[in-house]
Amino acid sequence: MLKTPAYAALAAKSPLVPHSIERREPGARDVLIDILYCGICHSDIHQARDEWGGSIFPMVPGHEIVGTVVKTGAGVKKWKVGDTVGVGCFIDSCRECEACREGEEQFCEAGMNLTYNSRERDGKTPTYGGYSTRITVDEDYVLRIPPGMPLDRTAPLLCAGITTYSPLRRHGVKAGDRVGVVGLGGLGHMGVKIAKGMGAKVTVFSHSPGKREDALALGADDFIPTRDPKVFGENARRFHFVLDTVSAQHDYNAYLRLLRRGGTMVLVGMPDPVPLAAASLVMQRRHLAGSLIGGIGETQEMLDFCASRGVVSDVEVIPIRMVNEAYERVIRSDVRYRFVIDMASLKN
Ligand code: NAP
Ligand code: ZN
Ligand code: ZN
Repeated sequence: MLKTPAYAALAAKSPLVPHSIERREPGARDVLIDILYCGICHSDIHQARDEWGGSIFPMVPGHEIVGTVVKTGAGVKKWKVGDTVGVGCFIDSCRECEACREGEEQFCEAGMNLTYNSRERDGKTPTYGGYSTRITVDEDYVLRIPPGMPLDRTAPLLCAGITTYSPLRRHGVKAGDRVGVVGLGGLGHMGVKIAKGMGAKVTVFSHSPGKREDALALGADDFIPTRDPKVFGENARRFHFVLDTVSAQHDYNAYLRLLRRGGTMVLVGMPDPVPLAAASLVMQRRHLAGSLIGGIGETQEMLDFCASRGVVSDVEVIPIRMVNEAYERVIRSDVRYRFVIDMASLKN
């Protein structure tokens, strides 16, 4: 076993502290990755604080991992030492069910094996995430980082990037479509950049009026502060597609009004339940859908798409000792626009 430094939450609502975990020596199909950067996703906070229930402690969060392959198992075909690679939200799945066969491992019928707060396929060994210096992963669940990408700014693509790319693609967003992005945080700012990359006209809806200039600098065509509820009436039936990334409870019915006839709103944010009025959908024959990260193949497609258009995340790079402070700022919607941990700070 490989003794590995990490940061962990030892119980719900307690701050993250230095901790030691063990990684397995790479088996025949495994690669050992030296972690360079790991993004901080709001889902890390939801889980470290047990806001979704069932959290497994001690928990080493982190599922936006970029690093270098430092060792490969004897049977590894896809990777060699020195390759720059990524690991996202899951590190295994059954590989046999319909979802896995169709490349949508995130919907594995046997349950995907999450990168952390989960168990390996043996059903016993806990998984630990990217707030650590290295990780051992099966070669089929590793992504190729295209050459030339700035690695700190690429780490957030492994969750925030794929989570926004997948619904935009699936629902056929195309050049000229009017797209609303709700919430300008980690996911939201990637949604703006990726929708712009697809040629859409993008409007940001935000409860933080101070983010207007940033939104426009990120590429948005328009910015609408949501504190005054009359904006929902003023912008009713304007949008082909709305991507809702908000992490806290809010009124879906108000945002559904923004959709034109037959338009679609996709929820990716995961707050506690909120009431929904049938009329919000019945009128204008609107669609409401959800979306969960993306499969391995689609995640690779997203990385290649982002590389081809120069799309990366806007990040604040921090040493790992600042992780608890970063969590507080994410909760206050004060992240510009993803915190990324420089893992060199844990190695020294
Ligand atoms: P984040 O960086 O904290 O961004 C969330 C944004 O929501 C904030 O920046 C803020 O934007 C807005 N917001 C926060 N509190 C609000 C409130 N009380 N009222 C209205 N708006 C509010 O979080 P993230 O990492 O992007 O994650 C967003 C959500 O997606 C989380 O719930 C996360 O668990 C979930 N998630 C889902 C998936 C998936 O596969 N479906 C994947 C990753 C994450 P403004 O300041 O602009 O209003
Ligand atoms: Zn995430
Ligand atoms: Zn499966």
